[in-house]
Amino acid sequence: MMNKIALEEHFFTQEHLAYLRAHKGYPRLETSFDDAGNPVERLLRMPGSSQVLPGPLLARLTDLGAGRLAEMDRCGIEMQLLSLAGPGVEELDVSDGAVLARKTNDELARAIGANPDRFAGLATLAYADPKGAADELARCVKHLGFKGGKLNSHVVGEYLDQPKYWCLFEAAESLGVPLMLHPKDPLPGVLGTLSDYPGLTQAAWGFTIDAGSHAMRLICSGLFDAFPRLRILLGHLGEGIPFWLARIDSHFARSPGAKIRRKPSEYFRENFIVTTSGMFVDPAFMCVLQTLGADSIYFAVDYPYESMDEGTRFIESVPIGEKDRDKICRTNARRLLALKPH
Ligand code: MN
Repeated sequence: MMNKIALEEHFFTQEHLAYLRAHKGYPRLETSFDDAGNPVERLLRMPGSSQVLPGPLLARLTDLGAGRLAEMDRCGIEMQLLSLAGPGVEELDVSDGAVLARKTNDELARAIGANPDRFAGLATLAYADPKGAADELARCVKHLGFKGGKLNSHVVGEYLDQPKYWCLFEAAESLGVPLMLHPKDPLPGVLGTLSDYPGLTQAAWGFTIDAGSHAMRLICSGLFDAFPRLRILLGHLGEGIPFWLARIDSHFARSPGAKIRRKPSEYFRENFIVTTSGMFVDPAFMCVLQTLGADSIYFAVDYPYESMDEGTRFIESVPIGEKDRDKICRTNARRLLALKPH
């Protein structure tokens, strides 16, 4: 089995869950009871969006020790890049969010300190206050050794292409670390177009619409003309964008109001990297490999929402050359995370 580094792997702290259980607005964690009287924990992320958190899933999310390490050992995963699961802290009152982000980052740093060869971290950021979030990102990278930050897409109904958020991207570029752009429920207008079919609103379709649109907004805003060394990490094989890339280029160029200096695909190729999280199928992977090349693709599972065994079986067996497989499984990640040779 090939050694692997997995880049989109999630956790919750007990303190974060306790906060969500006590929180009155959105997001919050509520306990209700099923027909048999068993307690069911449900995340209410925003109006119109809820997600059941089964006990075994919650147990995996909160385990940053023996149980998680045993699964990693079984699957040949030498390291996980850890990030707080959603909902994060960005939709909380700004002061609560900042305090909780700091505590979460400090706790993650302790977990990494206990197993520094097995875990690395992305910062939790309360980016409704972009300047505060930029400072926290800097603290996490400089003082806690974190490898970047995680953005749970839009915040207070806004996408991050708005210039007031650019200080956060500027900080990431100057620190030399990537930002993960993670999907979230679509904003209410888009959510409304899907809500007749609740199964479509989340990971089946809504998440990829949200994250894909968000990534395209960042490209079209000129963000990468301002910060050409900025790197954005997209999961789920690039949220559909690689499949559409040629058509985006050809039609974007003919559109009024297209202000960026280069083709959208050029920014996507230079400023984005993609992971295999939750997309363990050969045809989609082959499309992305042919479109972007092996240097832009990184292994990830999206643990524990996706199966570590399934992600492992996929990357070990997808019919590609061993040199490409090695890059995707670990060599690209070692460079991205600036890991020392061992
Ligand atoms: Mn995820």
